[in-house]
Amino acid sequence: MLHCFYVKKEDRDLLRFLWHEDNDLDKEIIEYRMKVHTFGNSPSPAIATYGLRKAADSVKQDYGEDVCEFVHNNFYVDDDAIAAAAFLRTVSQGGDVEVSFVLGKAKPAPTGGHTVPRLELCAAVLATQIKDTVVSSLGINFDKVKMYTDSRIVLVYIFNSTRRFYVFVANRVQRIRNSTEPKQWTYVNTNDNPADEGTRSITTLRMQKCMWLNGPKFLQESPGEINATAKESFPLVNPVSDKDVRPEVTKTSVTDGGNFDVTTLFERHSEWDSFVQGLSYLIHLARSFKKSENPCKGWHKCSKHKKANFKRETELFILLSVQRKHFAKEIECLQSHRKLPKDSSILSLTPVLDSHGLLRVGGRLNKANESQLSTDCNPIIIPKGCYVGLLIVRNCHQKVQHQGRHLTEGVVRSSGYWIIGGKRLIASCIHACVTCRKMRGSLGTQKMADLSVSRITPSAPFSYVGVDVFGPW
Ligand SMILES: [Zn+2]
Ligand SMILES: [Zn+2]
Repeated sequence: MLHCFYVKKEDRDLLRFLWHEDNDLDKEIIEYRMKVHTFGNSPSPAIATYGLRKAADSVKQDYGEDVCEFVHNNFYVDDDAIAAAAFLRTVSQGGDVEVSFVLGKAKPAPTGGHTVPRLELCAAVLATQIKDTVVSSLGINFDKVKMYTDSRIVLVYIFNSTRRFYVFVANRVQRIRNSTEPKQWTYVNTNDNPADEGTRSITTLRMQKCMWLNGPKFLQESPGEINATAKESFPLVNPVSDKDVRPEVTKTSVTDGGNFDVTTLFERHSEWDSFVQGLSYLIHLARSFKKSENPCKGWHKCSKHKKANFKRETELFILLSVQRKHFAKEIECLQSHRKLPKDSSILSLTPVLDSHGLLRVGGRLNKANESQLSTDCNPIIIPKGCYVGLLIVRNCHQKVQHQGRHLTEGVVRSSGYWIIGGKRLIASCIHACVTCRKMRGSLGTQKMADLSVSRITPSAPFSYVGVDVFGPW
């Protein structure tokens, strides 16, 4: 838009700059003069406003005087200035009202591409500062100090007590609330706002009658009418879409009756390794919140949970929770050195408890040294029909590269697990395994055509004779 403004020849000396001749960096630096107005100049907004008004004037005949008037009064570039003014209103004993201008301030808006509500909030802060200066300097006991703004959103911010804002808004709202109370603030129409005149140019003719010096009309009215709007409240209209309002975080806590079964969560996983790793990370995170001597704190990412000993610890936790669910009675009996109940499904395994509290298959090697024992001497008992058993079988089956039942079973045993009903579980796992299905499936064969009539009708020899033309020759 600003490129449309030609600069008069005699004024072009004011817009000079130095640059290489013909835009060639090898050539000498010469003096250039701007022919048109450029962006970014400090008077640019004023020129833009001037251009707009000039354009409105030129089409006055086509669109009417009211349109021209509307453009003149309502369109201007004011986003780069904020203003506030203070007025003293005195009422004499006779009831005469006198309004006088005390202090006004206009300044450039803070840089950084702030939104309009933010600039309006800055203006409210400016108003608060002016009010503080006036109240402390005049030394009068005021009956009442009232604050006005033509921005409803600023009033919403000031009145709000339920939602939190981001730093920019929060700091300024805090500043305002330090010096004023929300109930002092009221909405004023832009047309009645004297500070609005401070942000734009004004002709000398209008200066005498402007609100900036004479005060708004509503202040000259009787006291009752000024307070008419004071009881308005300003709720947040759409806090979700307002970028200055922090999103509301709601915390939900679930309390169960102590019957929460952690093993039901295990069924959300389909791979043993990723399951153990995921749970390790969860346990590590839970500890980072609890233990103060832990170097890891709060939500974070690290690879400590991937260490082998941590993985083993998590595996034992999984197996312990599974066993406690299925063999609660047996564990209790073994802990109190009692005999197992006669109907126990693992009676024939003569189970023993190890140092971790895990149920293991008993045997005749109890007198052996620790070093003599391998993992498969006293395998850990996995209950029948338990999902963890299926995960372990799948994992072992993959470890042996999808070989048959016996090899898979061997790996399960050598990994130190005794799955009750393991053979059937392994068979069903291999049966459902997609890779095995593909590799073990029978080969496809061609379906043969029907035999011809000549081959199925009894007849004398050589009644029908055929020649095989594709013989070897
Ligand atoms: Zn960590
Ligand atoms: Zn397989």
